[in-house]
Amino acid sequence: MDNLDGLLVIAKKYLGDIDVLSARPWMCQKKHGHALGLLVEIAMDGCISENLLMFRNAVVTEFINSEARIMSRAEGTTHNIECSMCEAERTFWIGKNGVKRLVKAYVAE
Ligand SMILES: [Zn+2]
Repeated sequence: MDNLDGLLVIAKKYLGDIDVLSARPWMCQKKHGHALGLLVEIAMDGCISENLLMFRNAVVTEFINSEARIMSRAEGTTHNIECSMCEAERTFWIGKNGVKRLVKAYVAE
């Protein structure tokens, strides 16, 4: 199992019934950054969108498979996510498809 397959396994374990299409590390802004979470492409309600699975603590990429612990799932813009290793901050911005999915869910109510 290579690293990317491992990330998919971690994401699927956390997301349960949600269909996960891909998972890749989401890094802090430092040059040789730390992974703050996993950027996942998910299929839900007939839409494909990107969500961020935030780690409890930042991890060095080589150790994601063994050390990463997912704390929460961000679907919309989440500001100033702080790296627990270097204190750099980064914002997760909702993508166009994420907006579409939320609008669709809101209109359907
Ligand atoms: Zn960092």
